[in-house]
Amino acid sequence: MDSFDCYIKAGEIASRVRENARKKDYTGKNLFEICEQMEREIILNGGAPAFPVNVSLNEIAAHYTAEPNDQTVVANSDVLKIDIGVHINGFIADTAVTVSHNSKYLEMAAAAETALNEAIKIAKPNTKSSELGGVIEKTISRQGYKPIQNLSGHSLEQFTIHAGKSIPNIKTFGSSFGLSLNQAYAIEPFVTTNDGQGVVYEGKVKNIFGIVSRKPTKEKNCDEFLQDIWDKFKTLPFTTRWLLHDHEEVHARKMLEILLKRKNVHSYPILVEGNYKMVAQAEHTIILREDETKIITI
Ligand code: MN
Ligand code: MN
Repeated sequence: MDSFDCYIKAGEIASRVRENARKKDYTGKNLFEICEQMEREIILNGGAPAFPVNVSLNEIAAHYTAEPNDQTVVANSDVLKIDIGVHINGFIADTAVTVSHNSKYLEMAAAAETALNEAIKIAKPNTKSSELGGVIEKTISRQGYKPIQNLSGHSLEQFTIHAGKSIPNIKTFGSSFGLSLNQAYAIEPFVTTNDGQGVVYEGKVKNIFGIVSRKPTKEKNCDEFLQDIWDKFKTLPFTTRWLLHDHEEVHARKMLEILLKRKNVHSYPILVEGNYKMVAQAEHTIILREDETKIITI
């Protein structure tokens, strides 16, 4: 399989899992079960999770995944963003959907989807990233909502989710770049209400991690642990839940703490809306081919 075939396969799996999630009623279900079920589904379909399934509720825009035995239960009024990553040989499909039964926020979730679709319509080789941001912003504000200005889409590379190029969710006036042929990009508008700040801040909770350095710690226990997580996840994000497949929880948490302190591992804290207002998200991964813009997660 060449890289494009891998992307296509990863995209098919990611969209299948996302569409199954969209149809479900998660009211009364806990976040642990939701994440584990979706990650299992990715594997059963022949893929691997590219990152822990994100289940970010309400004013949390992104980067929450279930803790081990997380008993947080989804309420009928919640706005839940489900963000799924699937990889095949490191080639990643990244996609998200907002699910809610709260009639107050259905329109906002739809606004995120519309903004995403409008941006994809103009995504061609050489389309400027600022233009994409402009279309996203305009589409969102026309519907009476606000984009989150410090969250953005991104280029993707093998085993790298944020590969250096950002696709803004607002019209930007600084540096801009043109989209490249055969490059994968995730486009992901985040939307909040007009009384939101339109900015996210890092929260206290951190349960998604990634290796940034494999420099030995000189502690045998710790080096073995680092080697083990490198073998499993390479540069891709992971979470405490996943460490418990092969490690005792107390040990895993202790090792993680040391590796964080030594900066072998960094964390991705949850991202919270500045005025604690509800946030919706939609996301697709695209690849620009000569003859078409392929939405691999359609
Ligand atoms: Mn995503
Ligand atoms: Mn993404």
